[in-house]
Amino acid sequence: MITDEQELRRILDTAKVLRLGLSVDGEPYIYPMNYGYTLENGELKLYLHSAVNAHKLELLRKNPGVCFQLDCDNTPFEGKVACQYGLAYHSISGRAKAVLVEDVEEKMEAMSVLMKTQTGGDFTFNERLVSIVAVIRLDVTEYTAKHRPIPENLR
Ligand SMILES: Cc1cc2nc3c(=O)[nH]c(=O)nc-3n(C[C@H](O)[C@H](O)[C@H](O)COP(=O)(O)OP(=O)(O)OC[C@H]3O[C@@H](n4cnc5c(N)ncnc54)[C@H](O)[C@@H]3O)c2cc1C
Repeated sequence: MITDEQELRRILDTAKVLRLGLSVDGEPYIYPMNYGYTLENGELKLYLHSAVNAHKLELLRKNPGVCFQLDCDNTPFEGKVACQYGLAYHSISGRAKAVLVEDVEEKMEAMSVLMKTQTGGDFTFNERLVSIVAVIRLDVTEYTAKHRPIPENLR
């Protein structure tokens, strides 16, 4: 388990894509999506953007309870027999409440955060630019981070 904030930030800065899990009327859905994040006092928020007429938005309105997972540093390792092969990785997984952001100021800030996470650069947005996208904020209610290292005898 990883709890170190610097390491959490490194994983969040590196992964670039998360899997968003939704459930409506007993049917599961999964969408890979780019994201931005803020992590303040242990409180994690994730920001997503999408087309304004996307089906996933209808699903989120019906059930804003979601889960997510992201990973990075995926490194296969070998062994002498099949069961010694494996994959080293860093991963974050959690649950969140999805909020469709309507406030224009918050949408602009969210898109800047998303671009910062995705590119490392500073971008500003105006009202017109954010009017053509939907922005989803994930208020993360619980999450865990895990590192599976390469076994010492194989390093
Ligand atoms: C690496 C990656 C990053 C992405 N980042 C974003 C992002 O930041 N924002 C964003 O809006 N979209 C992103 N996408 C696309 C996203 O996963 C959806 O395909 C897209 O948003 C359409 O959503 P929808 O609600 O309109 O689709 P739906 O109307 O729910 O889907 C329409 C049809 O397409 C199929 N489908 C939908 N998504 C996928 C998929 N990813 N792979 C295979 N079949 C699919 C569904 O099964 C369905 O049959 C990304 C995709 C990838 C692979």
